[in-house]
Amino acid sequence: MKLILLGAPGSGKGTLAEIIGRRCHIPTISTGNILRAAMKDGSPVGLRAREYVDGGKLVPDEIIIGIVRERLAGDDCKAGYILDGMPRTIPQAEALERAGIEIDLALSLAMPDEAIVKRMAGRRVCRDCGASYHIVNIPPKAEGVCDKCGGALSARGDDAPEIIRERLAVYHKETEPLEDFYRKRGRLRTVDGQRTLEETTRAVTEALGL
Ligand code: AMP
Repeated sequence: MKLILLGAPGSGKGTLAEIIGRRCHIPTISTGNILRAAMKDGSPVGLRAREYVDGGKLVPDEIIIGIVRERLAGDDCKAGYILDGMPRTIPQAEALERAGIEIDLALSLAMPDEAIVKRMAGRRVCRDCGASYHIVNIPPKAEGVCDKCGGALSARGDDAPEIIRERLAVYHKETEPLEDFYRKRGRLRTVDGQRTLEETTRAVTEALGL
């Protein structure tokens, strides 16, 4: 299965990608996680990406396309994968098509901006492994500590309210048009992202026929 998760930042793409990936035994490819790891390592890609990520802007398409093309060539992607946070622009979606990548489904998580802003305030991520939590909806077992690797949890810098507003504006302008792109290809399914994680997971697994 080749699946794309669409939806505004904070709509739950990463959390759902993990759940579906575990169930289907396919990897999740999160461009956001790859970029954050590159920034932490200080790699050339990380150094180039930092100013965009920190400002809530999109990293240039050619950087993203390069990262994803390399990652999809991995052996673990042969049986399928979930793309979380890519494509985010029409040129990125076109680049996937040009590379001969046929997507089975683009699943869009619908959520109004006000609900996103509220949810983002409670998001915490592990500084070491990138795992994502929410202080109310998906709390870690011990406050401030990652269940998976014991790393410290903190709010993402780009989840600050003024950066979230910029990211939402970018989402509406650059990423939302992808819904039409995949609708025209008969590949779009929309699920309400505002419900509890359990309810959204059920709706998503039904939409995927799992
Ligand atoms: P995310 O973790 O998906 O919310 O991504 C965090 C940030 O990484 C975004 O605000 C962008 O700056 C950058 N980013 C991630 N994926 C992409 C992409 N496909 N295209 C451009 N920028 C991206």
